[in-house]
Formats: sequence, C-alpha cells, structure tokens
Amino acid sequence: MKKTLNDIQVSGKTVLVRVDFNVPLKDGVITDDNRIRAALPTINHLVENGAKVVLFSHLSRIKEESDKAKKSLAPVAKKLEELSGKAIKFIAQTRGQELEEAIKSLNEGEILLFENTRFEDVQNGEVVKFESKNNDELGKYWANLGDVFVNDAFGTAHRAHASNVGIASNIAESCVGFLVQKELEMLAKGVDKPEHPFVAIIGGAKVSDKIGVIDNLLEKADKIIIGGGMAYTFFKAQGHSIGKSLCEEDKVALAKEYLDKANGKIILPIDSANNTDFKDTEPTISGVDLPEDVMGLDIGPKSIELFEDILKDAKTVAWNGPMGVFEFEHYNKGTLAVCEAIANLKDSFTLIGGGDSAAAAIQLGFKEKFTHISTGGGASLEYMEGKVLPGVEAIQNK
Ligand code: AMP
Repeated sequence: MKKTLNDIQVSGKTVLVRVDFNVPLKDGVITDDNRIRAALPTINHLVENGAKVVLFSHLSRIKEESDKAKKSLAPVAKKLEELSGKAIKFIAQTRGQELEEAIKSLNEGEILLFENTRFEDVQNGEVVKFESKNNDELGKYWANLGDVFVNDAFGTAHRAHASNVGIASNIAESCVGFLVQKELEMLAKGVDKPEHPFVAIIGGAKVSDKIGVIDNLLEKADKIIIGGGMAYTFFKAQGHSIGKSLCEEDKVALAKEYLDKANGKIILPIDSANNTDFKDTEPTISGVDLPEDVMGLDIGPKSIELFEDILKDAKTVAWNGPMGVFEFEHYNKGTLAVCEAIANLKDSFTLIGGGDSAAAAIQLGFKEKFTHISTGGGASLEYMEGKVLPGVEAIQNK
C-alpha cells in the first residue's frame, strides 16, 4: 500500500504536488476545468494543515520553442484562484533563482504554481525531453525545492517523467494525493479484487491496443464481451467473411489463439450494423457474415439484447472502449445501450476505464450512475493490462 496524505505530517513543510492541470485550451481560454476541480481536495487539505504548497503540471506537449507561448499555465493559475478562492502565486519558470526565492518565501498555507513542466522538453530550440525522459539532474533539482512530494496526477501515472518518478526517487518523503488514492482504490475493486460475476466489456478500434487488457482479464473475469471495430478481427479468426470492416490481418492468428484458450469466456456480437462506406447514413443489419461490399460500424440489436442479458447479473463490470463508431448518430446505438445497461445495474460495482467510453457516459448524462469513471485513459488502460504504473510505484509504501 502506498502512503497517502493521511500518513504524512505536512505542517510547516514545503510540499511539492504534481497535479494534472492538462486542461483543454482554446485561444487561451480553458474550455473544461474538471481537472482543476479534481485537484482541490488535495490542495485544500494541504492548505488547511499548514503546508507551503508548490504545484506543477504538464500542459499538452512541447515539441518546439514556439509551442511555449500557447501552452503556459498562466491561465490555469487564474482559474485555480477563481475555483479555490485562494491567492495563487504563479512563477513563469520551471527552474531558476526567481522560482527558488519564491518557494523559500512561501508562508504556511500559501500556494505557488510554476510553469508547464514540459517546457523542459525543449531548451533553446533543441528537443531534449528532460521532463518526458526523466532527466536525472532535473528530477534531483525539483526534489531539492521541497520536503515532501505528493503525486496527484493520475493521468500521467503510467509514464516515468522527471516531475513524478524523478522527484519521488530523490526526496525524503512521498505519498499519493486524494485523487490518485481514489483511482487506485476503485481500479483495485474493479479489476484486481472484483466481486463475481465479473463482466468486462472491451471495445474500440484495434485488437492491438486492447490485447493486453484481454490477456490480463481472461484470468480474472467470468465473461469478456468484445465489441467495436476489433470484433471483426475475431470474426475473421472464426472464419467469417467481414467485408470491408476494420481488420488487423497480423492479429487474426492471435485472436484465434485467445478464442481457443478463453473456454467460452469471450462473447462476441451476433449481428452487425453496416454501411457501404464509412459514413453516417442509415445502416443495414446483418449477421456476422458480412457481404463483400459493406463494413460493420456497430453491433446490431440482437447483440445488444445478448449483452444486456449477460450484464444483468453482473456484480462487477469494467468497461473500456465503444461498441461502434459512436461519433456517428446512426452507429452509436450499441455504445448507448451498453452504457445504459451498466448504468442501470443496482448493487453492482461499475467502472469505466477512461478514454472514449468515459466521455460517452458523461456526455449521455450517466456520470453519477457509475461507481467510478477513471480520469486517466492511458493510465487506467495500463492498470487494466496488469502493468505497474511507474508514477505510483515510485511513491513510498506505508
Ligand atoms: P479506441 O480509441 O481504441 O477505444 O477506439 C475508439 C474508436 O474506435 C472510436 O473513434 C470509434 O469510432 C472507433 N470504432 C469503433 N467501432 C468501430 C468500427 N466497427 N469500425 C471502425 N471504427 C470503429
């Protein structure tokens, strides 16, 4: 078990907090402030307990010097002031005298935010990736600015960067923040210690992106429902004709191998909603042998019924990936139905592993109906694959 904020005495200490303020910006205006709101419980706890709080985050990617002008955290500092009701001292540097002096002069309960950690990836026009490649010297430098490190950025927990692993490896005390703590508790319940029957639903475009999840869950789940574009590679492995549907030829043999060893645990769609081209017009419904001139873009109505029937007895459900091209109005039915079926389960633990399925559930107004919707697409996917998250691993154990 990793140390949490409740295991650490922060009064009078300078606490370095890696937050996830990677918010969408349009013309310098923040279009979704959820990530900033999500950091408030940790920030408030530290302020209330007399810490000197130093916040930092990445924002998007920095590939060249000119990216920096548009990717400053300055607008985030303003928004954070508004949302927290507290003064935020913003330092437009990632290192240097001004930053060091500002941190030294912080009083208990005061908050400082420094500039986008990925500014360190480009130095004087040269791509050096000091942050993204966990430059040793940078991790040590940042670690020396404080007494305690708190990692509350779940969205980057699957990456070993200087601002998480680098600092954690070079500081006396570290713990996870409230947001990361909750993510880990929820993912553990939904993936590692599920109540049975445990049904996983895996969708999305590619088998190659999700094979790690299928592999890890084959042991743990009672049923794995597979939908979305990746289902057609499995159909091909079963010898069906799939027309012009998405198919990863180099994964057909692997799909067959998984079907053979799944012992009936893998459940595939039994019908398909098709179009002659990749466009949002009225579908034709067919079985899983598709005519040559069509592509399958969603699961059909019989598959929806089958999946609803399997889901209705589940005690734990973990979902990652849409059942079809949900961006198209004519091909979002499967994703909607699955989302609704999970949302309507009573007394079950229901988890969405970030990404498109999370966005779909929130957009459809089901946010409150799931036990947990992960805030980190990549991180929760890697957790579902059974991988260790380096940003968490580097934090001290209790
Ligand atoms: P992923 O990022 O792997 O979860 O995949 C999500 C994407 O898969 C979405 O943009 C969907 O439009 C796409 N997708 C899902 N089903 C299909 C399908 N049958 N054919 C083509 N694309 C699909």
